[in-house]
Amino acid sequence: MARKLAEYEAKRDFKNTPEPGAKVPRKATKAPRFVVQEHSARRLHWDFRLEKDGVLVSWAVPKGIPADPKKNHLAVHVEDHPLDYIDFAGQIPQGNYGAGTVKIWDSGTYETHKWSDREVMVTLHGKRVQGRYVLFKTDGNNWMIHRMDPPQDPGREPMPQRIEPMYAKLVRKPPPPDDAWGFEFKWDGIRAQAYVEGGTVRLMSRSGENITARYPETHPIGRALGSTEVVLDGEIVALDAKGRPSFEEIQQRMGLTSETEIRRKMKEVPVTYMLFDLIWQDGHSLLKEPYTGRRKKLEALKLKGGAWQTPPYEKGGGQAMLEASRKAGLEGIMGKKLDSPYEPGRRSGLWVKVKNRMGQELVIGGWLEGEGKRRGYPGSLLVGYYDKGEFVYAGKVGTGFTDAMLDKLQQLMKPLERKTSPFDRGSPPKGSHFVEPKLVGEFEFVEWTKSGQLRAPAFKGLRTDKPSKEVERELG
Ligand code: MN
Repeated sequence: MARKLAEYEAKRDFKNTPEPGAKVPRKATKAPRFVVQEHSARRLHWDFRLEKDGVLVSWAVPKGIPADPKKNHLAVHVEDHPLDYIDFAGQIPQGNYGAGTVKIWDSGTYETHKWSDREVMVTLHGKRVQGRYVLFKTDGNNWMIHRMDPPQDPGREPMPQRIEPMYAKLVRKPPPPDDAWGFEFKWDGIRAQAYVEGGTVRLMSRSGENITARYPETHPIGRALGSTEVVLDGEIVALDAKGRPSFEEIQQRMGLTSETEIRRKMKEVPVTYMLFDLIWQDGHSLLKEPYTGRRKKLEALKLKGGAWQTPPYEKGGGQAMLEASRKAGLEGIMGKKLDSPYEPGRRSGLWVKVKNRMGQELVIGGWLEGEGKRRGYPGSLLVGYYDKGEFVYAGKVGTGFTDAMLDKLQQLMKPLERKTSPFDRGSPPKGSHFVEPKLVGEFEFVEWTKSGQLRAPAFKGLRTDKPSKEVERELG
């Protein structure tokens, strides 16, 4: 047995794993070879191996081989592997060291410029990666890998920290001409963008809050994407007993911060991430690409897993889709102009939403006492919206909540109490209790009356993802 491979051999039972045994060949091959294996084990990582003196000198690189000289990646020096490992791909069975899937990510030959115990400088000639790299030791087994050459792709740009989401205008019916629009079902949940790099997912809310920890179900998208870098746009939904997205359900996941509570609720109220746009890919912005082009690239990623899906869109057929959405008990549809770019932070009308019922967010500005056993406690809510910076009274809402929800609302309103009306326009009823207009809720109603009041409104749920000052009346 080769002493060089003693550590490799000690970690494995070759009766139980298809990986090659420990063997050091007598004579060296001509051009030394390298391999990068994508290893989806407990954590996704990339194993970088260089052929040297009859073995593969190896590093595990959690974020993969850097494409950009500005970004150095950690590379953990691991035990030498036998040369035969260079073309190993397949499954390492459960219970074995490194259990998971190994894929060849790149392979080729390399030239050596420097090789010492603390620094290795090579030029890779791979199918995927070409260029000069240096690995240098920082601390114990920890090394860094740095690309010395300019990026292979000269137009490559670093992924932005954040791209503001594009918004849809509320309209009454699918817009004409029908065949100029793409239609999607509208998902009633939490808008979220996923920034995925080196197999790691960062989820951002519409207001720019990092909500990664709140939805662990979405994290394995990183594995599915491997080394592909993307910014995805979509909606996180929770399905009710009938399989429809329910805003009421997702609310139970929205405010959670403690890890144990998140883990517990995850079992009760699992979420699904509905993906509908791709706005960045592998160092390039896709904002200027038309909707159809972005959708094509999104679909090519084939993102369909346990907790994420890429629902298809339809070219034209808006009215039929709206009908279908109503029958399926969905909130409505989205219309997106087929040739439209992605406009961060804008609500230009190139995206529209058509809802089956009138519904919108409103700000809670106070409450009225209930009757019977709810005497002295909130029985209905006073709501309003902002118009040119003024807070406008829109009516009172007395249905749609359970007593438990009212109690929760009371707790939330308590610290916001104030003596005077927060409403700049309109007149709330006598006996109203007032609060600072901070809490945002989702409400449904039949229509707006001529005098600008809600007809037959019902409470649907609280929204913690939207600043109250942004709540405006959506439709006349
Ligand atoms: Mn590995």
